[in-house]
Amino acid sequence: MAAIHLYPWLESTWQRLLQLYNSQRVPHALLISGAKGLGKANLIHAFEKLLLCQAPAEGACGTCRSCYLFEQNHHPDLRRLGEDAKTIGIDEIRELTHFLDQTSHQQGYKVVTLFQGDQLSHGSANALLKTLEEPLGKTVLLLVAEQPQNMLATLKSRCTHVHIVLPPLPVSLAWLQSNYSENDKYLQQCLALAAGSPLRAREFLDADTGNWRSALTKAILIEPKSAFDSEDIQQFIANQPREALYLFYYWVAEVTRFALQASTGYLYTGSEVKHLEHLVRKIPLKKIFTFFEYLTESIKTLSLPGTNKQLLFETLFYRWELLCSEGGSV
Ligand SMILES: [Zn+2]
Repeated sequence: MAAIHLYPWLESTWQRLLQLYNSQRVPHALLISGAKGLGKANLIHAFEKLLLCQAPAEGACGTCRSCYLFEQNHHPDLRRLGEDAKTIGIDEIRELTHFLDQTSHQQGYKVVTLFQGDQLSHGSANALLKTLEEPLGKTVLLLVAEQPQNMLATLKSRCTHVHIVLPPLPVSLAWLQSNYSENDKYLQQCLALAAGSPLRAREFLDADTGNWRSALTKAILIEPKSAFDSEDIQQFIANQPREALYLFYYWVAEVTRFALQASTGYLYTGSEVKHLEHLVRKIPLKKIFTFFEYLTESIKTLSLPGTNKQLLFETLFYRWELLCSEGGSV
């Protein structure tokens, strides 16, 4: 059975968890937080497996009965809630009590993992809090959250908090380089688009949206009008509206940085520099900021149910085109 391979940037957090385990100080409730795209599930699975393993050594052995059951997704001492991105209901939390009352099947730890711990309703969070007040024996509760600040403070205060930080650029870049043959400049651009998160950058790379991206970049930097009838851009918006909007965000942020003469760490091609300079000369900085705010709002709007993506993009491009052609009467 293959060991769980951890992403390189998770190593220091893993060492911290190992330390807790080796010194027999694993708390009853552990909150593991970190931004989207850092491989939290990867780390959690490795830790669950270690906790359940019957012959661990610097990680799960991979050969004992517990490891076998874990690999088969049939471990009776493990419960995972919210893994399918569904909100965890209060009934599911109550059912946990029954699971926690049972003795462990394999005489080791019992492990409960709650993904999306920051999405718990007030009722569910309170029910969980009540569970934590009972004696738990050899049980570990793993709460996973992207935004721990949204969690009920009383629940958070019951947990030992382990936060996964964004890896430094060279670490993420090295990992992408070892997995993709694209040039460094392109990899860096994907990382910037993914706000530094390597697994989200991988999504951009895997999506194979090269043509769509060039068409959208061209429309943003050179010819906004082309956005309205470009087949590639329409496809991009229809299939990956979030990525399309992030690309827009990325370039407008670059225009802003360029205007402020701030360093971006990104190497432009000669023609990109020319177009960025042109835009900066043409549009007053204040107008760029106003548009930037509008773009940020649009990103929020996109995630609301029932949003008309097409209309959202058309309005954006209409405003951007106006800015580019008239220097901003928006
Ligand atoms: Zn094992």
